[in-house]
Amino acid sequence: MIKDLLAYIRPHRRILVIGGLLGLIGSIAGLAMPLLAKYVVDAFGQDRSMAGPLIGLSVAVLVGAVVSAGGNYLMERTGEGIVLGARRRLVDRMLRLKVADVDRLKPGDLMSRVTGDTTLLRSVLTNGIVNSIGSAFMLVGAIVMMATMDGVLLLVTLLVVVVIGGMTGLIMPRIQRAQQDAQEAVGEMGAVLDRALQAYRTVKASGAEEREIGVVAGAAERARDRGLQVAGWTSLAGVATWMAVQIAFLCVLGVGGARVASGTLEVSSLIAFLLYLFYLVAPIGQLVEGAVQLQQGLAAVKRIKEIEDLPAEPVAVPASSTAEPVGVRFEDVAFRYGDDRPAVHHGVSFEVPPGGLTALVGPSGAGKSTVFALLERFYEHQEGTITVGGRDIRDWPLGDLRAALGYVEQDAPVLAGTLRENLLFAAQDATEEDLRRAITRTRLDDLVARLPEGLDTAVGHRGVLLSGGERQRVAIARALLRKPRLLLLDEATSQLDAVNELRLREVIAEVATETTVLVIAHRLSTVTNADRIVVMEGGGVRAVGTHDELVGHDDLYRELAATQFLVS
Ligand code: ADP
Repeated sequence: MIKDLLAYIRPHRRILVIGGLLGLIGSIAGLAMPLLAKYVVDAFGQDRSMAGPLIGLSVAVLVGAVVSAGGNYLMERTGEGIVLGARRRLVDRMLRLKVADVDRLKPGDLMSRVTGDTTLLRSVLTNGIVNSIGSAFMLVGAIVMMATMDGVLLLVTLLVVVVIGGMTGLIMPRIQRAQQDAQEAVGEMGAVLDRALQAYRTVKASGAEEREIGVVAGAAERARDRGLQVAGWTSLAGVATWMAVQIAFLCVLGVGGARVASGTLEVSSLIAFLLYLFYLVAPIGQLVEGAVQLQQGLAAVKRIKEIEDLPAEPVAVPASSTAEPVGVRFEDVAFRYGDDRPAVHHGVSFEVPPGGLTALVGPSGAGKSTVFALLERFYEHQEGTITVGGRDIRDWPLGDLRAALGYVEQDAPVLAGTLRENLLFAAQDATEEDLRRAITRTRLDDLVARLPEGLDTAVGHRGVLLSGGERQRVAIARALLRKPRLLLLDEATSQLDAVNELRLREVIAEVATETTVLVIAHRLSTVTNADRIVVMEGGGVRAVGTHDELVGHDDLYRELAATQFLVS
């Protein structure tokens, strides 16, 4: 995991080294100060000029300040670069995941990994590492200087520091565990908040505000509790180091005082030694802080890696030049959404020739939408063969397959942004002419004329400014602009008014003259004129035929038709 953590630094290592060196020079300047102070004191005693040592002291202070500031800026800069890199990689992976993996993950938790966990990498990988290296250097430097002053006192100091340092080391794994829990709790908070925001109207209509607030607040409290655990362990580590230095100070003062009294040690050396001892405080503190940050970074990397280790799909390529309609064949297809889930398709077989309108009908849960999900290869079927245009879909490059298909989801989602952005979402390079044509074909001219800024009107979050029928036709226009060779249309169950329903029927019939249209029809009125109807039930195909044939032969279809007032 430390290797993963270090991988984030690799692109920035040069600037990090420069920043680190500047920090180091700053430290050296700081390290020289007690020595210079000793000269000042010695100069006092020996009646020498103090100008030299004083000038040296001032230069050390000035150089130390300037160099440290420069080094610090470089560090922060690198930190921002590291966060940017981590976010890019994470988002890149997130949008290429398989649908099946995304089904399992919670959007709010994913969000917190991009926004929160990446931020944690910043301090650990810059200040954390550089300060730790700088501190280690200062520590070694101070110890060497102390060794030159008095070996006995050094031994006393090291003994105390090592004992308490070992105790701190025991605390570190606990900090990492608590930190990881804390970040998970933040992710969980994101997930429950996302749930409430997704169903905002339902929350309000159900009078569930208080309860949802409670759920989110509960998650926030868990995050706080975990954070407190981290704080507790961190404080303990901090107090241990503070104690180490204090105890070392007392011991050195006692032993050193005795040695001064016996004449084996000069007073100036004892003073310098004690000053160096206090110089240990900062680097030891920074080393402990660096170790704590490392634990945070490791916890963050673990959460980021969880996503980055999931397999990615190749991204879809732009629409192909040919718009030749393709046919579809399902042959004994068996499919389940997960190994532990019931089979959704067992032996689905049907054939759709190129061109024309084919409807999939059947009771809810029969597996109709799953047919579309398999065609788009959102999921992989386990048995049987699915061909599109006579070619097994497993042999199609995924990008080409998806480019050949137009897909209109049941909820016909409209994205925040302008109407134009929504229409061009799947075909960025469509011409103005294509756009006009798609609008006319989907009977959206009225809508464009009505909107205050026409195509450039923002349609609001999830298209709230559009009616259900309009949203659906926007989604169809979007799919058509991709010039699909097969249009998959999951017709919304929402009740459309008579005008909108008529329009939809016209649009579908017209599109079916140019390409293959496979529509999941929840309302039989839109499919009575389909070229063929596939009746599905319980994960299999029950019958295939035209409306008139099916009314004659198939009980289920007749029943479905009867309940929808298509036959008396
Ligand atoms: P239909 O479109 O005919 O109503 P679906 O294909 O949507 O039927 O669903 C068939 C079955 O598959 C249902 O029992 C449903 O619960 C299940 N199902 C649908 N989507 C998923 C999914 N993403 N994960 C797990 N099960 C699913």
